[in-house]
Amino acid sequence: MLQEQRKITNRFFAAAAVLAALAGACACPVFAEEEKVSREIFAMDTVMTLTAYGEHAGEGIDAAVDEITRLDALLSTEKKDSEVARINEGVIGDESLSRDTAKLLAESLYLYGETDGAFDITVYPLMQLWGFTDGNYRVPTEEELAETMQVVGADDISYDEGTGKAAFGKEGMEIDFGGIAKGYTSGRIMEIFKENGVESGLVSLGGNVQTLGRKPDGRNFKIGIQNPDKDSSFLAVIEAADEAVITSGGYERYFEEDGVKYHHILDPKTGCPARSGLLSVSIVSPDGLLADGLSTALFVMGEEDAVSFWKGHSDSFEMILYTEDGRLLATGGLKDRLTSDYEIEWI
Ligand code: ADP
Ligand code: MG
Repeated sequence: MLQEQRKITNRFFAAAAVLAALAGACACPVFAEEEKVSREIFAMDTVMTLTAYGEHAGEGIDAAVDEITRLDALLSTEKKDSEVARINEGVIGDESLSRDTAKLLAESLYLYGETDGAFDITVYPLMQLWGFTDGNYRVPTEEELAETMQVVGADDISYDEGTGKAAFGKEGMEIDFGGIAKGYTSGRIMEIFKENGVESGLVSLGGNVQTLGRKPDGRNFKIGIQNPDKDSSFLAVIEAADEAVITSGGYERYFEEDGVKYHHILDPKTGCPARSGLLSVSIVSPDGLLADGLSTALFVMGEEDAVSFWKGHSDSFEMILYTEDGRLLATGGLKDRLTSDYEIEWI
């Protein structure tokens, strides 16, 4: 039997995470109540909550919503006239890519190389095969998998940074920025906030949070990380300032067939949902795009490879891993600002 179990509770949880992040802000003596503006919108298939503080909060939020709408129209794989859909249909021809798409493509190819192929935007034909793109979920046959795998592999994308032109080496290749689009967007929102004179704020895109500055009372924002096992409590709470806290997990979007759960983060080496022994990976970094890409990639890699990857890149991010056997691991840079009811194994 086929059954969809996309967890609506995530949305409430996302809102709860932001509420936790904001707790205490209202008692602040520095700003009046009207100097905090919050708005909730639905875009990129996600409930997004934006909050800004200070006298320019309203302008900042308006501009951020415009930016989200613009990026959604550009990057959506589903919207027929989006730039990504046009790339996938091969109609982009000899045109140069827009600035945003060029940046996302260059960063995706960089991540593909750095993560030894764990992050690969060419998984889109596999996402379609498994039915994650239209909800017609199914477990493909070996033959179907083998055939689709032939067009998977970002080393067959050529991209010339000078001209901004991209080309696929194989017919049938298609890309999807789903693994980094939200992190890129939250990073852009921080820039838009700043351009509009906002110095303090945060955004939650489906539970992925990025913060600008500190709360108006000078304290760090507190971000709750969802517990994959329980909706009722956080896995951990982290203090953040000028940082993204982005989580990937197999519990977010999945279907079940014959008692087996199949989730939406695919291992590009097998073409199947990654089974790496991890339930969730959270990345903390000032760079939203990097945090999003790495949360997906390190989830695919599993504990051992994720830990050695962090050791080689410990200046650019911190991470929290939650394993299938119930262990919570975190990197040393979070020592004074991560709390949890679980015992934390420090890396
Ligand atoms: P979410 O978007 O649900 O928060 P992720 O950031 O982990 O979670 O992104 C998952 C999305 O990334 C999938 O829906 C798919 O579009 C894409 N994706 C799946 N597997 C990979 C992968 N190995 N590399 C890059 N992108 C992937
Ligand atoms: Mg991601």
